[in-house]
Amino acid sequence: MDPRSAQPVVDSDIAFVGGGFRTTTFLSSAPALLRHRVRVYERGPGVGPGGFARYGITTTSIGSRFFKHLDLNGPFAPLAHSPELMEVARAEQPVAMRRLAAALSTLGRTLQNALGADGTRLESTVVAVRADSAGHRVDVQLDDGRTESARHAVLATGRTERPHPELASWRANMLLSGSVIATARRSEIKDRLLGAQGRPVVVAGSSHSAMSALQILLDLVTELRAEHPGAPLPSVHVVRRGPARLMHDSADLARRDQVPGRERPFDAVRDVCPATGIVYRDSGLRHQSRALYCALWAGELPGAALVDAAVLADASDLFDEAALVVQALGYHGQAPDLYVDGVLVRPGDSPDRLLADDDGALLVSGAAHPLLSVLRVEPTPLDRRDNTAYASDLYQRLAGRLDRLAAPVAEVNA
Ligand SMILES: Cc1cc2nc3c(=O)[nH]c(=O)nc-3n(C[C@H](O)[C@H](O)[C@H](O)COP(=O)(O)OP(=O)(O)OC[C@H]3O[C@@H](n4cnc5c(N)ncnc54)[C@H](O)[C@@H]3O)c2cc1C
Repeated sequence: MDPRSAQPVVDSDIAFVGGGFRTTTFLSSAPALLRHRVRVYERGPGVGPGGFARYGITTTSIGSRFFKHLDLNGPFAPLAHSPELMEVARAEQPVAMRRLAAALSTLGRTLQNALGADGTRLESTVVAVRADSAGHRVDVQLDDGRTESARHAVLATGRTERPHPELASWRANMLLSGSVIATARRSEIKDRLLGAQGRPVVVAGSSHSAMSALQILLDLVTELRAEHPGAPLPSVHVVRRGPARLMHDSADLARRDQVPGRERPFDAVRDVCPATGIVYRDSGLRHQSRALYCALWAGELPGAALVDAAVLADASDLFDEAALVVQALGYHGQAPDLYVDGVLVRPGDSPDRLLADDDGALLVSGAAHPLLSVLRVEPTPLDRRDNTAYASDLYQRLAGRLDRLAAPVAEVNA
């Protein structure tokens, strides 16, 4: 403790673990926070695009949604003249992910400049975060053995796919959907499709990730057909476990199940697929993915078929036959090992979700922890997917709480 200020002597006021989409858009929504000593730990070479840099697909959300909180004041003011950023920030359509990644890189560079030379730790992987309640400090441990301290840590480490237990029997032939849609793996996937010798490819799941993987697989098969006329090429089977949350059973039920004021109102034109009659909820599939799913469901997608299996094992014959199985069964929040007062409360490989209060405070055993926050690491919980209000004020509330927490004691007491 520093006896003059009654504050712990630490390397930064607020440590952000992960410098991807969330950290970048959050800090650029709250320029006032930058008057505190903020430090961002990022395992990649730059702050900004995070996972979006890897994928050669189109976003689910419209471009403007990604930058809806952007505050073009203070260090971010010059960005109003950046075409790269502003064209995506104004787009009312989904955008190519490489454009989104480029826009986020631009924003990330501005953020890095604003944070100063000591405000970012790039190519620094955090392996553990240790909160010490009595000492009012958090230690951030890096994989090179260094440890740095902060008054508060925000976990913004994004999501990952974990091999699904229901697909354990087919793991030798399995790829995660993120690998299939990754630009860097395109030629490898193409080789595998040619090497399949006509045996099927199976995509497990029917979400946006599944539809993105399906689109890439069909595009690659089309390319192969032109390059190798007459070669046996695979068909793609999409195994869905149920219509579940992607749709309502009928338009009447869609109207009845509305949560007034919190859900986007049902629209019989927009929300009903003209080809199939599927009644979509305000969740899950949108835009290109939704159109692809409609065509697949209607049996109008050449080279692809939809297979229903309440549990994946119901389609085991198909999985056995497949040359390639693509897992597209959702994402899981990733975080380093978390310790509170010397106790490991959540190992990095924990199956538990990282839960947070509405203002982003990490919930440890159900209670909001004063030293740790989480910035939307987990996917939206299933029971909140139709609620457009979900987390809509998180940035504002988290910024307010962090500002108070990081304020010098004299300022707090004033
Ligand atoms: C294919 C795909 C499409 C998607 N499309 C959309 C969409 O259209 N709209 C939408 O809203 N969401 C979409 N998402 C969800 C998307 O993942 C999130 O919205 C967004 O990327 C989350 O931002 P983030 O900052 O949490 O994660 P990321 O942007 O991935 O950032 C996390 C950062 O943390 C770093 N990191 C991780 N662990 C550590 C560590 N231990 N130490 C140091 N650094 C670390 C990573 O390197 C990364 O830069 C999509 C996801 C995928 C996979």
